[in-house]
Amino acid sequence: MSKRDYYDVLGVGSTADAKEIKKAYRRIAMKFHPDRNPDDPQADDKFKEATEAYEVLSDSEKRAAYDQYGHAGVDPQMGGGAGGFGGNFSDIFGDVFGDIFGGGGGGGGGRARSGPQRGADLRYNLELSLEQAVHGDTLKIKVPSLVACKTCDGSGAKKGSAPTTCGTCSGQGQVRMTQGFFSVQQTCPNCRGTGTVIKDPCGACRGQGRVEETKTLSVKVPPGVDTGDRIRLTGEGEAGPDGGAPGDLYVQVHVREHAIFERDGKNLYCDVPISYADAVLGGELEVPTLDGRVKLKIPPETQTGKMFRLRAKGVTPVRGGSAGDLICRVVIETPVNLNRDQKELVRQLQNSFDDAGDSHAPRKNSWFEGVRSFFDDMKG
Ligand SMILES: [Zn+2]
Ligand SMILES: [Zn+2]
Repeated sequence: MSKRDYYDVLGVGSTADAKEIKKAYRRIAMKFHPDRNPDDPQADDKFKEATEAYEVLSDSEKRAAYDQYGHAGVDPQMGGGAGGFGGNFSDIFGDVFGDIFGGGGGGGGGRARSGPQRGADLRYNLELSLEQAVHGDTLKIKVPSLVACKTCDGSGAKKGSAPTTCGTCSGQGQVRMTQGFFSVQQTCPNCRGTGTVIKDPCGACRGQGRVEETKTLSVKVPPGVDTGDRIRLTGEGEAGPDGGAPGDLYVQVHVREHAIFERDGKNLYCDVPISYADAVLGGELEVPTLDGRVKLKIPPETQTGKMFRLRAKGVTPVRGGSAGDLICRVVIETPVNLNRDQKELVRQLQNSFDDAGDSHAPRKNSWFEGVRSFFDDMKG
């Protein structure tokens, strides 16, 4: 009963290509052909054996089945009922494959039915102020979604009735389809893989098991989130069809621009206007932070554009780590709306500077030097 390996029969390797297989078969067939070996039952057996091997290995589908399942995948004996080799292949193999892939009546371990599908994930765009993003917040959001129907508890069947076992697939959710040579498992078209059908659909959801509803959800925004972060609310996506598990809701964070602060990762930046006098004489300023005002000492002779770093007054990142800094850039304000006396005072002040040469203008000399060499280079 035990059969020789088809590759051994033809004397080829398991990776032999079609040409090699054909050549090997022709060689054996020529040698053991019944016409050449009358009254030699052994030769006849060998010829039949080689022919059977060739019929399988020369057909890529059959060969694949043989490679995967051995003789069980292609053996007509396993088909039950069909006669000798060369019968109706698709029937034979259909039955064989059906048994291998299982599913049907008590045979070998079949695949589990696919069951209800999981619901779709949803996305919600959430706009936050910088303060909310930095400090965290708990917000209510309204999300249009598909939720499990309350009338039928998501089953889709009218109250008092229940979904019944699908007759097409006997509740397996899968049916066997014979496609040419192979028999394949397919999702049952009658019940769409659920294994059940609804004879008496629920009126509220028209048998769908879920209805459209705007859900109000509470979103806990952790401190430190930034644009691009996502918050997942497990199970708050769409309900699955046919009572399947719900998907998740992804809350996508967008942080609005702030009037004063600019955020770059965990650092915050802001421009701080200072008076001409404070810049010259030094002084103490109040600067805003997200946690309230703090004092910032400005040293005398501070130039415009100078940056002052306030440690740990930035953002504590949501994924942990030390807090960032607040970086204040001072901008000297040119006084406006001066009256005649004030203008006169400024003029007097400027005259006193001019009398003292350039010693009061730290950048002026090097700047004019730069301009001069720039024009000299152009001429040169
Ligand atoms: Zn079915
Ligand atoms: Zn319903």
